[in-house]
Amino acid sequence: MQIDLHTHSTASDGRLAPQELIKRASEAGVEVLALTDHDGVDGLIEARKAAQAADMQFVNGIELSVSWNKRTIHIVGLNFQPDYEPLQRGIAGLQDFRERRAREMAQKLDKAGIPGAYEGAQSFSDGNMLGRMHFANFLVANGYAKNIRHVFKHYLVANKPGHVSGDWATMEEAVSWVTGAGGIAVIAHPARYKLTRTKLRKLIKDFMQAGGQAIEVVSGSHDVNEVKTMAAHAADFDLYASAGSDFHDPDFPWIKLGKLPPLPRQCKPVWDLFL
Ligand code: AMP
Ligand code: MN
Ligand code: MN
Ligand code: MN
Repeated sequence: MQIDLHTHSTASDGRLAPQELIKRASEAGVEVLALTDHDGVDGLIEARKAAQAADMQFVNGIELSVSWNKRTIHIVGLNFQPDYEPLQRGIAGLQDFRERRAREMAQKLDKAGIPGAYEGAQSFSDGNMLGRMHFANFLVANGYAKNIRHVFKHYLVANKPGHVSGDWATMEEAVSWVTGAGGIAVIAHPARYKLTRTKLRKLIKDFMQAGGQAIEVVSGSHDVNEVKTMAAHAADFDLYASAGSDFHDPDFPWIKLGKLPPLPRQCKPVWDLFL
């Protein structure tokens, strides 16, 4: 079965509207999908409706931004009740920070000789909350960078123009918002943080201490070896394993819908908890 539990829409920094995402995923053979927009749940109703029409199983999702030991870590929440008050309040706080950060990023870019970034980024966000991807689109469209990857090397990251440090939720907060809402918390793309083995194990321990139950083993941003490493960590800590593409944009050739490899055989699939 083709299961994808990590995708984005225009409700955060994805390029497709929720219903377009569902259509494309369905055509690509995805049978179960979670929409996991950054720090928001605004796309879930539209996506669920489209999934019903396409005869696809839909799972409520979110990707929460967390500050942990001075780093930004992403925690995916799956199969929760979006109207849970503490989750709603938590999301509102993260979105406030996103707005303040966007203003500050634009000011910093302006000082670096790049005017108009706030309005420029907004023209790519369709009125939705602003993320670095929208600034990246603006920088590429105006010739400041040749592509998105170039942006995330030369702008908006530590010690580069337009960088603002994250001030996100704590691990305890983010995990409790998801579990309190009846959902399952998952460490997103663990290999992307480039942590040493010791630090990664510390992250997993802190996450489990907070009530987290799963890690992404198969991810669009994991290579074959990273899948093996994360499967070993999942087994070691008796965590459930998740799988998600982290799809954002049909024009990003490195991540496609409907093409995820299966979980390694020793893994306990996280979807056993809700399918
Ligand atoms: P934000 O949550 O607004 O700080 O933005 C983080 C998002 O930027 C991620 O979810 C990705 O969509 C995107 N991003 C970060 N680093 C890269 C990269 N190296 N290449 C492409 N996209 C990236
Ligand atoms: Mn993103
Ligand atoms: Mn992420
Ligand atoms: Mn993501």
